[in-house]
Amino acid sequence: MNVSFSSTWYRCLALGAWVLCVGGAMGQVIGGATPEVSANLGKLSPLGTAPDWSKLAQWDKVLTRAEFEAALNDVYLDGGLLPNMWTIDDEGVSINTGQLERPFVRVLFRPRNDAPIPANTTWRSAKDLPPLAGRGPLSDLHFAIDPGHIGGAYAQMEERRLSFAPGETIQEGDLSLLTAQILAERLKALGAYVTLVRESTEPVTKARPDDFKSVALDLLHQNGVPMPLERYDGIVGDQRILTVQWQCEKMFYRISEIHARAKRVNEEIKPDVVLCLHFNAESWGDSAAPQYSPENHAHVLVGGCYSGTELSQQDVRFEMFSRLFARVQDEEIPLGEVMTTSLLNITGLPPYIYTTPNARPAGKVKGLFARNLLANRLYQCPVIYLEPYVMNNEDTFRRLLFGQYIGRTRVGDRLRSSAINDYVRAVTDGLLNYYQPRRTR
Ligand SMILES: [Zn+2]
Repeated sequence: MNVSFSSTWYRCLALGAWVLCVGGAMGQVIGGATPEVSANLGKLSPLGTAPDWSKLAQWDKVLTRAEFEAALNDVYLDGGLLPNMWTIDDEGVSINTGQLERPFVRVLFRPRNDAPIPANTTWRSAKDLPPLAGRGPLSDLHFAIDPGHIGGAYAQMEERRLSFAPGETIQEGDLSLLTAQILAERLKALGAYVTLVRESTEPVTKARPDDFKSVALDLLHQNGVPMPLERYDGIVGDQRILTVQWQCEKMFYRISEIHARAKRVNEEIKPDVVLCLHFNAESWGDSAAPQYSPENHAHVLVGGCYSGTELSQQDVRFEMFSRLFARVQDEEIPLGEVMTTSLLNITGLPPYIYTTPNARPAGKVKGLFARNLLANRLYQCPVIYLEPYVMNNEDTFRRLLFGQYIGRTRVGDRLRSSAINDYVRAVTDGLLNYYQPRRTR
């Protein structure tokens, strides 16, 4: 979920889109002209590392110009103004790296009439899988399940702990882990190989908030806060964001943690798909006196909708092109469509519809959106990011307090199924609905 960001800071500090909002590269020529070498295009996202741009050469002649432009315009760009970062011609695309020693890389397009070359990826699409030959319907698939957030003792810091009365508390990171553990068993029973990206309520990253003091101070200075307060004790509302403590914590549990998970996903697990499990929420105000929301909804996210400001960072630009050339979107969007349909059908929730420019509709199913999150940018394979339920909807909150159970139990004055069990069923059915018709038997 993504709550408690003030509107002013939202674009800068939203999950994954945490950029410095330095506008230097903006407002330049929009496409067309030869890209200029610009120091502004050498910037990195927080905790990002300079990419090896030569790796893009592996995608030479994988995509036609039409395929490349369709992916860019229909999925990856947000439709806003772009700095002058690449030029496209009939033979290929020249991309400004932002690195002075090698200012441009060029990736060639596949001539229109040439046969497609399979992209060289560690993940497999449904059509790459061997025949089932009587085995379990999800055999040969390797799913990584990424339980959103950390939970446990970190839930308060993460602003993912919700309590309306003593002894009645839910924490998103605990709920996502419980859901992941149950889901893993169901998927294994259907033949899949499953790995949890986080297996406990401890962080995957070895770093801790205090490790980020100098980075946090730099960030605050660059954003016009020359003398920030050290700690946020006693401060309420958005002013907390302007403290060193808040920035250090955010750097730890959001940025560093997702970087550590990405390292696990890309270097150890190497799955075919990552399923990121979250529970959404509407703004609940002060965590000491939270508010219920009448809203309750679900949506699913795939990668895309990168803004010009985000793309002016060289690591972000590199990661977007790496996904695009690997055709991640060709698997992610059809899978996302089926998963969204299953999630809405089984939970009975209406689709959430974004009204902010950080997301754009993806595919043909209502409730599926493309968004540039840190997880679905860094994980180098299709990522399905699920956001069912509004945790601070009173009915949902009551159901979540009961946790996992089979069948129905009395919640308030009605017999209700477990919200977690419904979540697991929705994901399991979605995967079956996607893979079964696409595999030979
Ligand atoms: Zn979440």
